Amino acid sequence: MNLQAGTTLAGALAQLPLDPLENRILLCHALGITRVALITHPERTLDADEAARVSALAQRRLAGEPIAYITGEREFFGLDFHVTDAVLIPRPDTELLVELAIERTPQQGRALDMGTGSGAIAVSLAHARPDAGVTALDVSEAALAVARRNAERNRARVRFLHSDWFSSLHGEQFDIIVSNPPYIASGDEHLSQGDLRFEPQGALTDHADGLSALRTIAAGAPAHLVRGGWLLMEHGYDQAAQVRGLLADQYEDVQSWRDLAGIERVTGGRLR
Ligand code: GLN
Repeated sequence: MNLQAGTTLAGALAQLPLDPLENRILLCHALGITRVALITHPERTLDADEAARVSALAQRRLAGEPIAYITGEREFFGLDFHVTDAVLIPRPDTELLVELAIERTPQQGRALDMGTGSGAIAVSLAHARPDAGVTALDVSEAALAVARRNAERNRARVRFLHSDWFSSLHGEQFDIIVSNPPYIASGDEHLSQGDLRFEPQGALTDHADGLSALRTIAAGAPAHLVRGGWLLMEHGYDQAAQVRGLLADQYEDVQSWRDLAGIERVTGGRLR
């Protein structure tokens, strides 16, 4: 893939080897132009430097690197997020967890997001519910740095904590706890496919049966939830029944919710 100097935007779009949407995203990113400019000035030509820049990005994408890491951006819940390879790329599936959390956070309530990564969940919740006090924690300082930037960028008020699950929380209590923890079992073939190859393994897999982080959160949350407070966790496509099982003893109203693809994606319950 080598675009020549003098190529027009229209010509570049025709020659780039990715799918049409990704061709447009890369071209706009490399040239620092908007989608509108791409459409209204198809005759604009690329100089040698620009042609080389676009070609290099296309090469990275062809080598499998996720488009979100190349551009450093991903949209989630209608907001723009910075992403680096220190964090999982926010998935549309996770918007379900945010919607459920928004509905279940009481007025002026205290919400906790465990393993916040890019901050997608905590920032979206705080943005939609400025009345709430949102805390987000992560074991990765690099992830927290990305999440802090995202809170600032979206003018969301979130308190960030460096914590290995509950370790830094001491006696603190919340009205709702949410998490999208690593839930892919070690050795799962998906870890060596597509975007996942480039994402932080510690955000994807528990290096065990896929349920260990979900188990840790379900077991530790009662000490940090008010009575009747919700625990909501995202999980894998085939884990809903097992996660309901993890909640059965200590929680009530235990149920699972389906994502847009019709897959049970979030399970939760209220502390008895
Ligand atoms: N939903 C992600 C995937 O299957 C995994 C995210 C996670 O482990 N929390 O690609």
